[in-house]
Amino acid sequence: MIYFDHNATSPMLPLARQAWLEATERYLGNPSSPHRLGGRGEAALTAAREQLARYLGCEPGDVVWTSGATESANTVLQHYARRRGPRREVWVSAIEHPAVLAPLGRYFPRAHRLMPVTRAGVVDLDWLHDHLRRARPRLIGLMAANNETGVIQPWAVVRALAREHGVPFFCDATQWVGRLPASGLGECDWVGGSAHKFGGPRGVGFLKCPADTRLEALLVGGPQEEGRRAGTENVPGIVAMMAALERRETALASPDEPGTPGSTPVGLRLAWRERFEEELRQRLPGTVILGAGPTRLWNTVSACLPAADCRQRWVVKLDKLGFAVSTGSACASGREAPSQVVAAMGYAATEASRVLRFSSGWETTPEEWKALLAALARVYREFGVAPSRR
Ligand code: PLP
Repeated sequence: MIYFDHNATSPMLPLARQAWLEATERYLGNPSSPHRLGGRGEAALTAAREQLARYLGCEPGDVVWTSGATESANTVLQHYARRRGPRREVWVSAIEHPAVLAPLGRYFPRAHRLMPVTRAGVVDLDWLHDHLRRARPRLIGLMAANNETGVIQPWAVVRALAREHGVPFFCDATQWVGRLPASGLGECDWVGGSAHKFGGPRGVGFLKCPADTRLEALLVGGPQEEGRRAGTENVPGIVAMMAALERRETALASPDEPGTPGSTPVGLRLAWRERFEEELRQRLPGTVILGAGPTRLWNTVSACLPAADCRQRWVVKLDKLGFAVSTGSACASGREAPSQVVAAMGYAATEASRVLRFSSGWETTPEEWKALLAALARVYREFGVAPSRR
């Protein structure tokens, strides 16, 4: 199977699996236990915390281990819901992942706003400037890169703007970390991420918190993580996550792709993706790439296909040909609810129903992109549908 669904989850890197296996044997004690075996686990957590803090650019004490980005986002929103203080609104972009939107609805049902996005899928900075002149929200949230379109958001600009207005800023960096350098993210007050998007195991992630904040823990029942997240830490998962992130950060820091002097690892992959998009538009005339203009992650293509057939049938046919692709966010896949992201960008429901997402990984080859293109052209021919006028 050729895998083009890395934004849903990325296969675990062999070196991360190895690190996990070794850690299960080496760190067999509970890191909270007073004996030497416990201390060894605690030392591994400290080393991992220091390493992540170095990548993010923050203090090790700001890092809290979680089960992933969903828990991280829930923690942030419930923290502001429980904290005393004026009940001001929370503003997040309209294209946030359900991991952010659902807790927002739960904790701030009548006290939130969704910041609009442009047709290109970028948060509308004019809207934000304008609204900040008139009101001060309790928290602003903006993802670093969108999971459906890959469109990179101006999170550093919004972080600076939020700071200028004395508003805390939360960045869901789940699709960014491991694909682009993490440095600078640590300057956001809150940052969430998940290991399985960059080759680490599932069910482990992190939350970077502001140094001076007493976090209202989401999970209580133990003193772990300085009382910020109860429950025995997943030491092997954390060690494996950091092994995967180290591999990704090393690739991101290297000037040349091994064996391809003159091309950065990201530049090379971006070129493969761009060639795919160009040829897709030629072979399936009428194809529209969502967010084509702005900067996007090097791995993501969100394409509104011309054939007016149900996108689930595309997925099934491609699956039979040996390709795993997606209809959008993992949560939205498998059911035909229109994507909130595509709708927020101003596309009609009929257009949204024709959107497929192809998301590659670090290990995806140009040959695999070419094979995907050939498979798409074949399915298109099989459908025998004239380009849609809808
Ligand atoms: N945020 C974004 C942008 C995502 O893409 C995802 C997963 O797809 C999540 C949060 C949730 O991650 P997890 O399921 O690992 O908690």
